[in-house]
Amino acid sequence: MTDTSFLPPLIAAIQSEIINNEAEISALDRAIGDGDHVTNLLRGLEAVAKLNDELVQLDWSAALMKIGMTLMSTMGGASGSLLGSMFVSMGKAAKEQELDLNGMTTIYSAGVESIKARGKADIGEKTMLDTLIPVMQSLQSDAEQNADKTTVLSNIKTAAIQGMQSTKDMLATKGRASFLGERARGHIDAGARTSQLILCVIADELS
Ligand code: ADP
Ligand code: MG
Ligand code: MG
Repeated sequence: MTDTSFLPPLIAAIQSEIINNEAEISALDRAIGDGDHVTNLLRGLEAVAKLNDELVQLDWSAALMKIGMTLMSTMGGASGSLLGSMFVSMGKAAKEQELDLNGMTTIYSAGVESIKARGKADIGEKTMLDTLIPVMQSLQSDAEQNADKTTVLSNIKTAAIQGMQSTKDMLATKGRASFLGERARGHIDAGARTSQLILCVIADELS
């Protein structure tokens, strides 16, 4: 994965994975939110897919920033500003990094930290961060151990799936679901589910 020609097929794969799971994601956000998460995300992905010709002309830093700004201006919802800021921060971090395991870990971690800061949230609050943070921890520990690619990708998927599932029994303290108190328990968070689906597609496309 050296250049941004990797992006168009990846974006298409993510779009079809979200479309394949549209009904389920919609039901998750209806149960403890306002039901629009999948629509917001698909709107953002469609806008990003329209940039394909432009993205392949850019380096990783500029491409990630462009994706972030596009998500911010098109997606809407809490998730739009959060994912938008994640990609802008990853783009900034990508300026100084090689795209090896250490570099990708640094870039991804910068993105996750920006969501934590912007959303004033952390692990355990029943949000997308419950998927994103365990994947960051998995990458950080694999980078330290210089794990091989197959191990890294398989650990990303395991961490994402376990993290997504962990939201089911949580109480929500951030976002719309926090208004529900105990009634939020028993439902997986929609943003945790879409983050997991996206990370699993990325891991598959990289393998
Ligand atoms: P909205 O809640 O404005 O309708 P979406 O439905 O698109 O926006 O996105 C909701 C998702 O955003 C939630 O499922 C949750 O994962 C995530 N989210 C909401 N608030 C926060 C926050 N403060 N920090 C991290 N993620 C959050
Ligand atoms: Mg919503
Ligand atoms: Mg909404």
